[in-house]
Amino acid sequence: MEEKNWNTTSDTREGDGAPAMGRLVSRRGFFIAGLAAAGAIGALGGFGLVGCSSGSGTESSTRSYDIVIVGTGGAGLSSAISAYDAGVTDICLLEKMNGNGGNTNFSSSGMNASETKFQKAQGITDSNELFAQETYDGGYDTANRELVDYMCDHSAAAIDWLDGLGITLDNLSMTGGMSVKRCHRPTDGSAVGLTLVPGLVAQVEARNISIKIPVRATALLVADDGTVTGVKVEDGDEEYDINAKAVILATGGLGSSKEMIAKYRPDLVDYISTNQPGATGDGYVMAEDIGAELIQMDQIQIHPTVEQTTATLIAEGVRGSGAILVNSEGKRFFDEMSTRDKVSAAELAQTDAFAWEVFDEQVYKANKAVTSYDNKGLVQTGSSTVDLAGKIGVDAVTLQSTIDSYNAITTSGVADAFSRTQGLIAFADGKMYGIKVAPGIHHEMGGIRIDTTNEALRADGTAISGLYAAGEVTGGIHGNNRIGGNAVCDITVFGKNVGEVVAGSLS
Ligand code: ADP
Repeated sequence: MEEKNWNTTSDTREGDGAPAMGRLVSRRGFFIAGLAAAGAIGALGGFGLVGCSSGSGTESSTRSYDIVIVGTGGAGLSSAISAYDAGVTDICLLEKMNGNGGNTNFSSSGMNASETKFQKAQGITDSNELFAQETYDGGYDTANRELVDYMCDHSAAAIDWLDGLGITLDNLSMTGGMSVKRCHRPTDGSAVGLTLVPGLVAQVEARNISIKIPVRATALLVADDGTVTGVKVEDGDEEYDINAKAVILATGGLGSSKEMIAKYRPDLVDYISTNQPGATGDGYVMAEDIGAELIQMDQIQIHPTVEQTTATLIAEGVRGSGAILVNSEGKRFFDEMSTRDKVSAAELAQTDAFAWEVFDEQVYKANKAVTSYDNKGLVQTGSSTVDLAGKIGVDAVTLQSTIDSYNAITTSGVADAFSRTQGLIAFADGKMYGIKVAPGIHHEMGGIRIDTTNEALRADGTAISGLYAAGEVTGGIHGNNRIGGNAVCDITVFGKNVGEVVAGSLS
């Protein structure tokens, strides 16, 4: 997922003691069950127990729905809202963790989108074709072009849709591999996940869509003719089936499963992961078990700027607004705004395979997330470049010379020796900061093969009736390198799409 960190498991809140709540309204608007505690839940957002039923058979009479959605990350939440608004209200979301939002909670870059009203208002010229081409190029021509085109063509509508839901992403920035400002962030420039998840959860709550939490889907139910008819779940000590006319898998990735990493990318098994502990690849296993094709599963993205003691991902926006990477000798070594795979590889080639991300106070202030890194004790602060050099143990003369040369490039028009062209902003005098970073596992780019209707496909290209997938659990959108800001676009565009497609198929 996009720029995601699972910072600490203490972020989760206990689910078992929470009151069972959430009104279940059938597609005919028929009141089935309602519990009075809903007023207590509105403000919790991500990892809040919103609209939840905390299991243990509390809803044994409602184990059949029109749509069951597995996973309450951005893709699952978006699909629930769009399906509901398209006319199917008998929906149940399942979440196995004690809180909603998955890795989407930790998305920090923003949402890439083209030809948006916010770009136009800010005089930014962009096109869906350029966005698609840069996405496709970024993935080295290995993505599914049809999915890429679909995502980019529908990105502006998704921005409008979110805006209509009260999630306004009008602060524009750049991410590596994109040539125009198309990464849409909340107005105050804060991490997008902290706005997106609570905003979507509030919309789910407003529609009284049921979230069963913590309830884990363990397998798909399949009829004799191959149609998916529901899911098997574990709900506390109980196991039961939930029937559905359609199942949407929105289970996210696998970055927290050593077993899955060992299966698909044994070379990465010792890497730290930015993923939340529930990202264990359940959706891949469930789908493959009933004949779905998994594609490009070896394409696991590592992200170049992960603080290693806490697995905190340092947002790409920090580099985008001017930070540089220096090695332990105090020297720059690569275009910091290149694609994630290349920057990671360059870091691994440095002494002890790490880098210092160095920035000034302008960058600190432009990125709200830096304050949270600082509060976690991840930021080294110097009163000057020389002072910072002492704090981070690099040669002061070399670091000063690195900064001076970099500053000269930003104003002289002379080409950067490392070919950096984006976020080339001179360092100001004054306080200087450094964060020690190295690559970490971040995003599964492969996954369940889908088409633009989000139907899960078999290897022969036929669709598995009743099974849909959206978000990180799907493959083909990013190819073998995902561009920062494209995961939130993926989960929103395809989450919205799958809800509408499924609702259309049931009407
Ligand atoms: P995406 O970005 O694709 O929406 P996220 O990682 O944000 O993916 O969200 C996926 C969600 O699915 C997570 O909250 C995760 O805990 C949940 N999940 C994963 N596997 C299961 C499962 N077997 N049953 C229920 N929820 C699951």
